[in-house]
Amino acid sequence: MKFGIYSDIHANLEALEVVLAEFEREQVDHFICLGDIVGYGANPSECLELVREREGITIAGNHDFAISGKLNIDFFNSYAKEAVLWTRQQLSREQLQYLRDLDLVHEWGDTLTAVHGTLNFPEMFDYIQTSYDAHLSLELLNNPVCFLGHSHVPVTFKQGPTVTFSMESEIEIETDSKTLVNIGSVGQPRDENPRSSFCIYDTDLKKVFIRRMDYDIDKAAGKIIEAGLPEILGERLKYGR
Ligand code: ZN
Repeated sequence: MKFGIYSDIHANLEALEVVLAEFEREQVDHFICLGDIVGYGANPSECLELVREREGITIAGNHDFAISGKLNIDFFNSYAKEAVLWTRQQLSREQLQYLRDLDLVHEWGDTLTAVHGTLNFPEMFDYIQTSYDAHLSLELLNNPVCFLGHSHVPVTFKQGPTVTFSMESEIEIETDSKTLVNIGSVGQPRDENPRSSFCIYDTDLKKVFIRRMDYDIDKAAGKIIEAGLPEILGERLKYGR
């Protein structure tokens, strides 16, 4: 079975279309979206509809909740805040309700778990940045692998005698140990690689493949500026920061 897993689209339609086309080419069986469909980019409504059409599992990101009014935006930086307020105006009442109703965690049988930030406090949308942060989520993980997003930086943590991390793009999933895979961001990568990031989990091969793809960055960035959103939100796409 093949899962197409993607996260942090952030209303970047150009990036999302490239990733979805690749999932189609790979003939994935199931889609899992790890949240932050909207926020920052210029096409929130179009991206939300494309994700919905896939009829996969979709879980909530902090921007999805902020835009739908479920999360306080006092802790968002000024650019993010501006994007939240702009995005709210672009979505219908029904689309906002869809975002509000997203779940924080999903367990796919005994195969995998999906969350946006952490398993220990999914509603807090904290970041897993250290081995200790990873340990707290690994402790609560009931499946061999948990996929997450949020930081926009692909990285894998493995539980062993200690927690180790790697930036490998091919990750073996063992049933006798537990793994956290941050799959990076479709629409706003921040690891200084501007290519769209996502993954394919092949359960027969027991392997996760982190994939990167080019998309029309100039077009996506141009639309952000045209929409009157903060210019930096377009600029950063070119550098992957
Ligand atoms: Zn995000």
